[in-house]
Amino acid sequence: MKSALVLGAGGFIGSHLVKRLKSEGFYVRGVDLKHPEFGETEADEFIIGDLRQNAVVDEVMFSPFQNITFEGSFGLKTDKAGFDEVYQLAADMGGAGFVFSGDNDAEIMHNSATINLNVAEWAVRHNVQKLFYSSSACMYPEHNQMDPDNPNCAEGSAYPAAPDSEYGWEKLFSERLFMAFARNHKLNVRIARFHNIFGIEGTWTGGREKAPAAMCRKVCESANGGEIEMWGDGKQTRSFLYIDECIEGVRRLMNSDFTDPVNIGSDEMVTINQLLQIVVDESGKDISVKHIPGPLGVRGRNSDNNLIKEKLGWAPDYKLKDGMIKTYYWIKEQYEKSQN
Ligand code: NAD
Repeated sequence: MKSALVLGAGGFIGSHLVKRLKSEGFYVRGVDLKHPEFGETEADEFIIGDLRQNAVVDEVMFSPFQNITFEGSFGLKTDKAGFDEVYQLAADMGGAGFVFSGDNDAEIMHNSATINLNVAEWAVRHNVQKLFYSSSACMYPEHNQMDPDNPNCAEGSAYPAAPDSEYGWEKLFSERLFMAFARNHKLNVRIARFHNIFGIEGTWTGGREKAPAAMCRKVCESANGGEIEMWGDGKQTRSFLYIDECIEGVRRLMNSDFTDPVNIGSDEMVTINQLLQIVVDESGKDISVKHIPGPLGVRGRNSDNNLIKEKLGWAPDYKLKDGMIKTYYWIKEQYEKSQN
């Protein structure tokens, strides 16, 4: 039986990934600061642990199935051996309100970089066979994303680097960290740059939710004839990828031989106004929008899927509207439960 370790298994993407790995027959250990918010984990073991702590990463990284002796890197001898596959998704993370306000910059950089430093070290020391790292489209340079109609997020446009947030800088640093461990310590890595992943069982309230979930919640909260607030003029563009396709992309990337960073995102670009309209139309409510100042991020962003098509022979194609409608009805149910 193949073994997988999912770091950040209590989070949105991690909890979906655990389900997928279980359905494929993996033995799965999940680790997170918290249990999944919406339902029980399907992992065989779930460890509550803080991955900023070096000793915790050491402990969780070795596979329950293996007990062999080998010469680890860093000149250490260890009798522990690592998982077949490790998925490093744990990060201090949230929507624009969390990432772009500037208030959380130090914690975002420190917490996520510390986790990644620990993970890279112990993946090598415990001889992990393959490691996946979740980077983000936020690492792309701001100057290529000023025009909402023509953003450039091709993988090759990453340098010279100029992300617009500390979250993006940390992602870039950690991509390079894992690539350096690949070069110098033969760590077998796969790196995806996720573009706005959304869907059911994601955070929908509390301040860390992203735009699709926030839109769905606001529409649920609004009365017919009501008004909802939106940060900015709503003309900024983005693409949004439904969670099932994100997980499909991760599994395909892990099963491929491609080791450079690659986008996993949708190339169906919409304005934020259009995104909201999908939900408003589905709700059947008459709702007006009040545009207010708020943290926004870049003016335009879209996934460039040429590389993933070339290297994996696959790219996501699930329609945004279908994913938004599914997500809307799931959030509506959560919202109604919260009102009782
Ligand atoms: P999430 O916040 O739901 O999941 C991250 C998990 O990491 C959380 O459950 C959190 O508790 C855990 N975590 C944070 N600090 C930890 C620590 N010190 N020890 C143990 N666990 C810790 O986020 P997500 O949307 O599932 O994202 C997963 C990964 O994908 C993250 O690395 C994120 O940066 C990246 N990503 C996500 C998106 C997206 O749109 N969701 C886009 C780009 C990149």
